[in-house]
Amino acid sequence: MIKAIDAHIHLDMYTETAARTLLAELAECHVEALIAVSRHLDSCKATERLLMQAPEQVFAAYGYHPEQELPTENQLNDLIEWIREHSSSMVAVGEIGLPYYMRLEAESAGLVFELAPYIALIESFLKLAADLDKPVVLHAVYEDADVVCDLLEKHGIKKAHFHWFKGSHSTVKRMIQAGYYISITPDVVYEEEIRTLVRVYPITQLMVETDGPWPFEGPFEGQQTHPRMIHAVIEQIALLKGLSVEEAAHSLLSNTKQFYGIPSLRLF
Ligand SMILES: [Zn+2]
Repeated sequence: MIKAIDAHIHLDMYTETAARTLLAELAECHVEALIAVSRHLDSCKATERLLMQAPEQVFAAYGYHPEQELPTENQLNDLIEWIREHSSSMVAVGEIGLPYYMRLEAESAGLVFELAPYIALIESFLKLAADLDKPVVLHAVYEDADVVCDLLEKHGIKKAHFHWFKGSHSTVKRMIQAGYYISITPDVVYEEEIRTLVRVYPITQLMVETDGPWPFEGPFEGQQTHPRMIHAVIEQIALLKGLSVEEAAHSLLSNTKQFYGIPSLRLF
């Protein structure tokens, strides 16, 4: 069985015991590594501690998740300074992006949502990524993805991973042409929108993820989200692409390793 990498997980959001157990189970679940993303400074520090526990399995991304209150100027400066100091222990800047769901919620409650400060926030991180020459992990769906595509072009960033992406046909076309990557979660098993996306997006620009501990529905209902679930995602991608599971698994693994610069484990 070909191993796989969970390309997006919030490992620091599991309890310490659950994270330790999860890491110990990876080998038997044929999961080679995790890309562990962060949400704010404390989350970055926690992710770095997890990386130290399992340095061959955990690869860290440091950033500020957009679906939360804005940081104060001091908090942002502290975070950016910390990331610069710890950049040798990270493979990417993330999770960063735009607050689609928060904005939707505010607007449907009849409130005005100021997007401009969030655009300024993501630009601080895009500048940092360009400066450190690191890829970016993005939370940007639907029309927000177009705004982020413009910003990536503005800052000359070519290595971009839009995790759990959803968007219009024209956005998808633009992202494929720009060479951006997306990752597919377990909802590909039961969401037609995601199945259509998989049929269209080139296998050479796909990765798989759980976004754990985020819970899933369908056959995963009631289960604690675990990296082992990515094998069900790989099987679905193989089916939708008309590939063997081995072929799909091989492509997805090599895409992820190449994108994040993860060395192949020596098997001897
Ligand atoms: Zn996430």
